[in-house]
Amino acid sequence: MLPSASAFVDPLFSTGIPLTLLGVERLCMVLQEAWGTEAWRARLQEYTRVTRLEADATAGLIAACYDSMACFPIFASLTMLYFAAASYGEMARRLGRAEMAGGFLSSEHAAFGPALRRCIAHARARSASGTPWAPSEIAVFEVEVAQAVSILNVAGLCDSSKRNRYGVDLEDTIRAAAKLGLSPSEMRAVLREAPWAQ
Ligand SMILES: Cc1cc2nc3c(=O)[nH]c(=O)nc-3n(C[C@H](O)[C@H](O)[C@H](O)COP(=O)(O)OP(=O)(O)OC[C@H]3O[C@@H](n4cnc5c(N)ncnc54)[C@H](O)[C@@H]3O)c2cc1C
Repeated sequence: MLPSASAFVDPLFSTGIPLTLLGVERLCMVLQEAWGTEAWRARLQEYTRVTRLEADATAGLIAACYDSMACFPIFASLTMLYFAAASYGEMARRLGRAEMAGGFLSSEHAAFGPALRRCIAHARARSASGTPWAPSEIAVFEVEVAQAVSILNVAGLCDSSKRNRYGVDLEDTIRAAAKLGLSPSEMRAVLREAPWAQ
């Protein structure tokens, strides 16, 4: 099944089409590479595993956001996880390095995936208590999220001086070039040539 047929994910972050396109791409690769071979069943099982993992990660993040709607700093902090993974994944794909992203929401990224799940679990467990977040707890959570985001941050996120308004500044991407396996000068050269960066 394609992602939107196999799992319902609330539309808060408009994830239906990106998940669907990833599913289409992956199924096409399975058909192209494994149709009629012994690997067919294993490849479909792997597709199923990834589809469910990404749906669960996305639904978990969205659930944490709904849980924290009464506490704007926590909600805003959680959205940083989404924007970090989305901007990293999109840039990795533009550079022909999609595999570096570790799938949707970087759910399978070796460092970011577990950190994402820890932040979601922390926010959900705390919100479930029903009592308001104390300022000191908010500060601790913001640091936890900022540490997770720093793994993939190519968009200057978690910068309190921006007051939650993040324009596109490719200098952020150049500074973070190493996260995408390039030096800053290599990234600057790529961006100078790329039609999508004009
Ligand atoms: C109101 C709305 C707004 C949305 N906004 C966004 C958004 O802003 N961003 C985003 O990322 N996602 C959005 N989504 C989600 C996104 O549209 C879906 O996740 C995505 O379209 C799912 O793609 P799909 O190919 O799996 O299914 P679908 O796009 O639903 O395609 C399934 C197709 O199969 C056809 N079909 C069904 N049964 C049969 C049959 N028996 N025989 C032949 N054909 C059949 C249907 O007519 C349909 O054309 C939105 C969804 C809705 C409903």
